[in-house]
Amino acid sequence: MDLFNEFLLTSMVTVLRYFIFAGIPFFIFYKFFRSNFSASKIQSRKVSDQHLYYEIGQSMKTAIAFSLIGCLILFTPLRSYTMVYDNMAEYAWWVIPVVLLVSLVIHDTYFYWLHRFMHHPAVFGKVHVVHHKSNNPSPWASYSFDLIESVGEVMILPILLCILPMHPLTIFLFTLLSFIINVYGHLGYEIAPRWFRNSWLFEIIGTSVYHNLHHARFHYNYGLYFRCWDRLMGTEHPEYEAKYDEIQARRFGASGPSSVTRTTTMILLICSSISLSAQHIEGTWSDPHSGALIQVEAMKGGQYQVYVLSSGNETEDIFIEDTTVFLCKELMPSQRQEDLYEGEIYLPRRQWYVNGSIQQLDENHLQVCGTKGPFRHKMLWVRQEEITP
Ligand SMILES: [Zn+2]
Ligand SMILES: [Zn+2]
Repeated sequence: MDLFNEFLLTSMVTVLRYFIFAGIPFFIFYKFFRSNFSASKIQSRKVSDQHLYYEIGQSMKTAIAFSLIGCLILFTPLRSYTMVYDNMAEYAWWVIPVVLLVSLVIHDTYFYWLHRFMHHPAVFGKVHVVHHKSNNPSPWASYSFDLIESVGEVMILPILLCILPMHPLTIFLFTLLSFIINVYGHLGYEIAPRWFRNSWLFEIIGTSVYHNLHHARFHYNYGLYFRCWDRLMGTEHPEYEAKYDEIQARRFGASGPSSVTRTTTMILLICSSISLSAQHIEGTWSDPHSGALIQVEAMKGGQYQVYVLSSGNETEDIFIEDTTVFLCKELMPSQRQEDLYEGEIYLPRRQWYVNGSIQQLDENHLQVCGTKGPFRHKMLWVRQEEITP
């Protein structure tokens, strides 16, 4: 078969593999059984059809680039530089799984550093931005890259073929496995079993939530298969495990404090702080990110009630959700700092109590800070009807 026919055949196989292995999960999770998996959805926002077509279009270009480079190495004299072998008897059978595993480790390293490079300000806007147009990715986003990035990504293949003995079966399994893991990363749904969280594998392997966080927050979780490089280089998202736990709690039932049920538009806060003066804290406050609105009203005895007027778009996107209403109870004036009130804050969506503080920065700004374990989240509430000084 000449090179052109090999290229046509390889392209067809790559495109077909894309439509089968991204298409089946897409139709299961996004079409036919959507409601069955609603608890597993990572970002509840819906992806527009138009964006899905964009992801598919970009992926087609990537599939062609992958096929072309693959063919140039495997079906031209360039093959003599590789360690590809056709006769199974040349190596022991176990070489195949071992090479497969080593390939994943090398690919993960290659991907991590290439990905870090792709996020360099000089490169990001010209190249990698195509992949990041999917900030709520679907399985179709798995190959949604700019052409330059596609070429960069596929260069792992000649590297592997030159340093590892690979049978065509190993190459087939590697590309298939790599694509399936890629689809899982972009699935938009967390499907990991419950036991996974308590296994040592969780410490090493990335999940769908892991890569989804990369798409939602950009500057974290650059790894492809494993967490190792991100952990080593300090680029893992600090709230990854909390996000993962939250979704798994939704799927399998919460294990944390859950006696308080969420009440969207009722009293959620009683501040016993006497020092929060009414003219300061009373009024309507909004969170610019989520659009949530709260109203603070004075009660008798120096206490305050907070009503949630609107919970904003927190139900639309779980990653906006930590900018959701933080509600506090029994905030006391801090010994450490004037105008700082410390106590417990209740996060209605997660049904968690966390340590928190409220600080009135000025007449129009309220800084709310929540801390749980090593995680800290700050948000700034803005007075709805600003008081001009
Ligand atoms: Zn991605
Ligand atoms: Zn990226």
